[in-house]
Amino acid sequence: MTTVTCSCGAAALDLDGPPILAAECHCTSCRAAAERFAAPVTEPNSGTRFVLQRKDKAKVVKGEAHLASFRLSDDASTQRIVATCCNAPMWLEFKGGHWISVYAARWPQGEAPRPELRTMTKDASGTLSDDLPNAKTQSAGFMGRLFWAWVQMGFRNPPVADVRRTLND
Ligand SMILES: [Zn+2]
Ligand SMILES: [Zn+2]
Repeated sequence: MTTVTCSCGAAALDLDGPPILAAECHCTSCRAAAERFAAPVTEPNSGTRFVLQRKDKAKVVKGEAHLASFRLSDDASTQRIVATCCNAPMWLEFKGGHWISVYAARWPQGEAPRPELRTMTKDASGTLSDDLPNAKTQSAGFMGRLFWAWVQMGFRNPPVADVRRTLND
């Protein structure tokens, strides 16, 4: 069991078992969102690192009342869950998705699972090194791993937390 927390420690999330995978996202939405958070979440290359976890293997164990949903636009199908106690982003999730993408910044420095690939590099803000596979969008392997996780979950998508607040205007 791994427990990750917001910057101040008031909100905590338990992650049971290994992640589906870890990745570094270069899409414009992740970059735009990062600018709205008080806690830094991007790498020097402007990518955002995430650890993807099955929803049935993730549970908020502390500070649920601090959590709020943030969307880049009213009709966005992606929401980012932010701990309002310290304005630290906790995770990202897609509407109907069976996994959450936990911000790697929630782990102590250097302790998050190392990314296996970069995704959405067609949106990257600069040149990327080739130390990891660079997928222009989402690679087939990436989608396959997500699908396999969903099979193992019996095609369910249980909620991770009861988030009632929203940061949108
Ligand atoms: Zn906090
Ligand atoms: Zn992204």
